[in-house]
Amino acid sequence: MTAIILDGKKTRDEAIPALIKRVKGFSFVPVMTIIQVGERADTASYIRSKKTFADKIGVEVRHIQVPEITTQTELIDIVKKNNEDSSVNSIIVQLPLPANIDRDSVIDTILPSKDVDALTAFNVKQWSDGQFGAILPATARGVHTLLKKYNISLNGKKAVVVGRSALVGKPIAAMCIGEKAIVTVCHSKTPDLAKETLNADIIIVATGKPGLISAEHVKAGQVIVDVGINSVAGKLVGDVDFDGVVEKVAFITPVPGGVGPMTVLSLFENLLDLCE
Ligand code: NAD
Repeated sequence: MTAIILDGKKTRDEAIPALIKRVKGFSFVPVMTIIQVGERADTASYIRSKKTFADKIGVEVRHIQVPEITTQTELIDIVKKNNEDSSVNSIIVQLPLPANIDRDSVIDTILPSKDVDALTAFNVKQWSDGQFGAILPATARGVHTLLKKYNISLNGKKAVVVGRSALVGKPIAAMCIGEKAIVTVCHSKTPDLAKETLNADIIIVATGKPGLISAEHVKAGQVIVDVGINSVAGKLVGDVDFDGVVEKVAFITPVPGGVGPMTVLSLFENLLDLCE
């Protein structure tokens, strides 16, 4: 038996008409400012996919690109200007930032009401506390929406989240707790990863390590969500050895076409929630 594919691209595309309708319901064009420091190729590609999606649903993206040598004070000033600009509904500072800039000082300058990535201290506390109505970082929201679309419930299930980053692993773990899963978070210091993953109903992997999860880490009936995006020999792959596990498990996300498109969709759902 081969696994059912959790198709993020199809799910995202099916959601577009509802988003267009929501955008048309506003008396203004929603605006997302994206601030990019430097010229990382992966960041540029993420911004391109956000712009393409924004065009499809009638949202404006204002892309501000500043050089790598920009100081923290200069960057904070750009954020403040966008906070004060009433035509701007949301602000993203693309991560990672250069080493000379303190991430938290910059992120916490963003007004929580414009913090579409939900990464300011205020919003992190909201979603960590499982506050009703709080926006979730886009990848966690995307995973949640995709599981729901395929009627996969987390309630009472054992979820193993591999990866504990502030942007991805932690919000996904918080989302799983909010959905009443029994959650284990694994990371680079987990001594026996297979022991943990073999005990799971749902495995969600976000490590940036291609092929980390292989046939020996999975068993029949499991749901595998692969958040990883890695470029290997010019090809995009996830953190899961897809070909090695697809015959064994019940559901799996592909890379590309799984969580990536859901993250973009969720980011714009967050924006429209902020506008309402
Ligand atoms: P990160 O480097 O900040 O965190 C990686 C995490 O993986 C850490 O917590 C680390 O402890 C853990 N880890 C590393 N090696 C491990 C190992 N051998 N065993 C167990 N855990 C290990 O990365 P991140 O920002 O969380 O991103 C993770 C991956 O998700 C990357 O591939 C990134 O490109 C991808 N990503 C995808 C989307 C999407 O929309 N699909 C969005 C954001 C990030």
